[in-house]
This record gives sequence, C-alpha cells and structure tokens, in this order.
Amino acid sequence: MAMTLSSGSINLLTRRVFYSKPNIQAKPVSSLRLEGRTVASSMSYDKELAAAKKAASLAARLCQALPLTLCFLCCVNVQKGLLQSDVHSKSDKSPVTVADYGSQVLVSFVLKRELPFESFSLDSGDLRKQEGQETLQRITKIVNDTLDSDLACNEFPLSEEDVLDAIDSGKSEGGSRGRHWVLDPIDGTKGFMRGDQYAIALALLDQGKVVLGVLSCPNLPLASIASSDRHAHDKVGCLFSAQVGGGTYMQSLDGAPPVKVHISATENPEEASFFESYEAAHSLHDLSSSIANILGVKAPPVRIDSQAKYGALSRGDGAIYLRFPHKGYREKIWDHAAGCIVVTEAGGVVTDAAGIPLDFSKGRYLDLATGIIVTNKKLMPALLKAVRESLEAKASAL
Ligand code: AMP
Ligand code: MG
Repeated sequence: MAMTLSSGSINLLTRRVFYSKPNIQAKPVSSLRLEGRTVASSMSYDKELAAAKKAASLAARLCQALPLTLCFLCCVNVQKGLLQSDVHSKSDKSPVTVADYGSQVLVSFVLKRELPFESFSLDSGDLRKQEGQETLQRITKIVNDTLDSDLACNEFPLSEEDVLDAIDSGKSEGGSRGRHWVLDPIDGTKGFMRGDQYAIALALLDQGKVVLGVLSCPNLPLASIASSDRHAHDKVGCLFSAQVGGGTYMQSLDGAPPVKVHISATENPEEASFFESYEAAHSLHDLSSSIANILGVKAPPVRIDSQAKYGALSRGDGAIYLRFPHKGYREKIWDHAAGCIVVTEAGGVVTDAAGIPLDFSKGRYLDLATGIIVTNKKLMPALLKAVRESLEAKASAL
C-alpha cells in the first residue's frame, strides 16, 4: 500500500547506502588469481563481517525500541513511538520512517568506528534544510537513545552534524570495481510498520561479487516458522551472517553463539513449502501458485515480508522462494545482496527465472529476466522447468 507524506518535507530516503572504497587492500589468505584479478573467495573478510554483524545488531536494537502501540494505516498496528510525522514516502511512493534513517546512521557509525581505514564519501541532503529540522532532531534522539544502551560506545552523544554526516555517507553507485557496502536500513518497511517481518540487510561487494552478508531479523522466531508448536514462536530476533566460502551462521540477536545453518535438502516438491512476498504488489501471487501447482507443491504459500525470507530459507524453514514482480519493476541490489549470500553459503541456489545467477556488478539494479527463484541444488532443475511452463502458459493466455 502506498503511503502519503503526512508532514515534514522529506520525500526521499535512498534505501541504497553504498560506502565505497575503491582501493582497499583485501587480505589474501591464499593467492588465487584468475585473469589477473584476485578471486574474492580467497580472501578473509572476518574483520568486515564482525563489523557488519555489530552494525546490523545495533540497528535492530533501534528498530526494536519502537514496539507496537499506535493505531494507524487503516487500523493496522504500527511501531510504538513511530509518529505519523515519522513516516514519509519516497519518490516511488514506498514508505520510509525515521527508523530507516536511524538504522542507516547506526550502521554508518559502526562501520566507520570498526573499520577506520575505510574511506567514506560525504554529501548533503534534505535533512540539512530548514524543513528537515524536526525529523533530524527525532533521528538524533533515537540514535542516541540506542547508543546509550550500548555500553561499549564512548563517542556519545552524536550531534546533529554527526547524524547528517552518517546519513550522507552513501553515494556510491556500486559496480564491478572496488568495494562497496550495500545497505537496506529497513528492508520491508511495510512489514516493519505492520509489526511483521523486516530486516536490516547489509552486504559487501568486492569487484562486483557479494563477499559477505548480514541479515538482522528482529521479529523472526528463533525456531523454524514451519513449526506448528504455538510456543515455538515466542522467542524472536535472528542474526544471519555469511562470508564467501565460509558457510552461513545464525544466532539470536541477544548474543547467543552462532550455529551453522543449511538449506532444506528435500528433493520431493510434495514435502516442500514455498515463500513469497506478503505484499501482492511486490510479487505475482497467481503466478507463484501456478508454478507451485505444476511442481507438485502441496503446502499453501508462506507469505513474509523482506529478506527474512532468505534467512528462513537458509535454515530450512521452507524449500523454495518465488519472486515475480509486476511488469516494469526493476530489482535493486540492496533488496537481494545480503539474502543471496546467506542462502548460497547455506547450500542454496539463487537465480533469475531463466536460471542465470544474479549479477550484482552492474550498479544499483539487477536487471533480470522476469523474476527471482531460490531453492536447493536438487530441486532447481524441476523448479526451472515449472517456471518455464507457467510463464509460457501465461504468455499464451494473453
Ligand atoms: P518483500 O517484502 O520481499 O516484498 O520485499 C520488500 C522490498 O520490495 C522493499 O524493500 C522494496 O524495495 C521492494 N519493492 C517495492 N516496491 C516493489 C514492487 N512494486 N515490486 C517488487 N518489489 C518492490
Ligand atoms: Mg528493501
């Protein structure tokens, strides 16, 4: 559902936050080279991964500090403390909240603190203007409230100028050269405002490849969402992390030790369940349903917002993710970069509808043929066949 700008003057927040560092020295573990370029999988990104986990966890804490109370948006619950004036709409009419900005500031702040040799570009935006003052004060307050709860932080409190600098840090366009941090400060803002699933999604691109990804999912149950045990879903808050060649791990956001996770190994579509967007405007539910029928999936679709779907898939809560946006929609890299590596490092496969792996090296957009499909290696050939047949049937029905 599109939201209108309720008050204030900010009409755009980029979901993309790229912190670029074209000349960074990656740490070679072994010196594999391919066509004169160092192969990303030979690098260790331990330090960057640790910083990314810290950043995404702190951003989750900020988002969680806005629990449910306010009745808004056609009587759907939204996050407590999230005032109507905190919700703005971007140029594409999708909502953005002060929590998006706050998350962005914290991620930027932590990455800069933990990786001091990274260079960050600065630029100014609408919040520097007079009409953005009220929103800026509000963001500064929620960021400082969150940092206040992080005892390890001594660069506190942040000034409004610090906040503006952090927000303005992301102006890179990505691409196939150098390193770029890719952030969706709140992926699934609509889910966030409903009190459903959302994720803080942070990834690092190195020479156009995703080399690490972190998904912080504050509302995702620690136990499988496939569990029918009512109490299994009481404990929520998951942090997924992966680096190239290192597998995927999940831990609770309250700091329990990470455990390695794996995608479902099922080969039988009758046992498989599939995930898709909660929002029908984001993905063609009838097309997914036709694909699932052809494939022989018996279970009804599991509809979840955000890249929490990739996280849940990486630990085997379901076996398939189908995403078919409406005609004309262009997928952005920040909506898939972290999720993609979280799933592939857990043993999954992520491709477009034609079976071609996603290419994150082209800048902000993925520019795919039709859609995105995700499953394990064994089910993928049958899934691709079902996708092809459904798309053909849809085309011939026109
Ligand atoms: P999901 O919850 O999986 O549908 O994904 C949420 C993301 O979908 C948001 O972060 C948006 O960037 C993206 N999005 C927004 N509008 C559309 C659209 N019309 N079609 C597909 N995705 C969209
Ligand atoms: Mg998003």
